[in-house]
Amino acid sequence: MEKSPIYLDCHSTTPVDQRVVDAMLPFFTEHFGNPSSLHSYGWSAEAAVKKSRETIAQSINSQPEEIVFTSGATEANNLALKGVAEAYFNYGKHIITVQTEHSAVLDPCRYLESLGFEVTYLPVNGDGLVELSILEKAIRPETILVSVMAANNEIGVLQPLKEIGALCQDNDILFHTDAAQAIGKVPLDVQAMNIHLMSMTAHKVYGPKGIGALYVRRRQPRVNLAAQLHGGGHERGMRSGTLYPPQIVGFAKAVELAMAEMVSERERLVGLRSQLYHHLSQLPDIHLNGHPSQRLPGNLNVSFGGVDGQSLLLGLRPTVALSSGSACSSASTAPSHVLKALGRSDRLAYASLRFGLGRFTTAPDIQQVGKAVVETVEALRSLS
Ligand SMILES: *Cc1c(COP(=O)(O)O)cnc(C)c1O
Repeated sequence: MEKSPIYLDCHSTTPVDQRVVDAMLPFFTEHFGNPSSLHSYGWSAEAAVKKSRETIAQSINSQPEEIVFTSGATEANNLALKGVAEAYFNYGKHIITVQTEHSAVLDPCRYLESLGFEVTYLPVNGDGLVELSILEKAIRPETILVSVMAANNEIGVLQPLKEIGALCQDNDILFHTDAAQAIGKVPLDVQAMNIHLMSMTAHKVYGPKGIGALYVRRRQPRVNLAAQLHGGGHERGMRSGTLYPPQIVGFAKAVELAMAEMVSERERLVGLRSQLYHHLSQLPDIHLNGHPSQRLPGNLNVSFGGVDGQSLLLGLRPTVALSSGSACSSASTAPSHVLKALGRSDRLAYASLRFGLGRFTTAPDIQQVGKAVVETVEALRSLS
């Protein structure tokens, strides 16, 4: 049998940690109840959901009642953006977001534009960061919401959430952040950062796919949200649908593990990443995409001058599983909108690799990948 390629695509998804699987299993069979049911089967499921809600809330310094479970970050983003737009349009119809956001923010924004909202898509600087002065200038009296992601899914850069939160507070505007890539990897604190809504997902942090949450602030201020799914009135009426205890328990276990291991894991990943970058640096004409240090510990995104991006990916495919640009929009052949926003040429944007290192990445993996990338780039360059 052929050896599986090394997995370095942790920004698209991660394997479920065995400890998470073990925590989930009893909730498929033994504790299968519906958390809404008023009998012992329901109560044991409800108790597990309650405990999970507390774990997730604690990890971002919020209250358990402020966690609304969803099917993932796409749904959480849709609920945040459309839910706020629908609840606050009387106050204004202007929203501010960023050109480098995930399509799960950009597409709901475009949809809201079709309904008559105005959206400002802020540019970023050459490192991929939002400039506060530009954000400040974009704020209008009718601005109701600012949505800026915590960590970028392509270049890993960490936006200055605390400073953005302070600016939103000064201007009485709601602040939403898509933290799909950030939870469990970098510290997040909805109080200190003045965040009103935060999207989360389990499957980027060694939890199961199909579960996530939206944090919705209840005090100072209490955020109103128009539900996008109507039904049994679950989750304080914001998101109807029977809760899914195995997924919720798995999500909480994944968050608990990531929080406990965050500091040591960050150090380990930063070490592996610099090893990889050091290895690649023997090649001339390579370009680091995104801020050199203000980024996720497991992210490295590099453009290689003088090679064709497709041939590079193809050449590496037997050795390593990774993506060029964003896996989420890889069906399209357009160059990455994130790399374009950094000012990269089409050519360099195409010839980019996104390395997503994670919990199960080892030093020998990095050695092997570094060697394969250098050899492949050199071979392609010698052909052209
Ligand atoms: C993966 C991702 C999403 C989508 O999350 P799902 O849970 O897969 O719906 C949204 N935003 C960002 C930044 C992501 O990386």
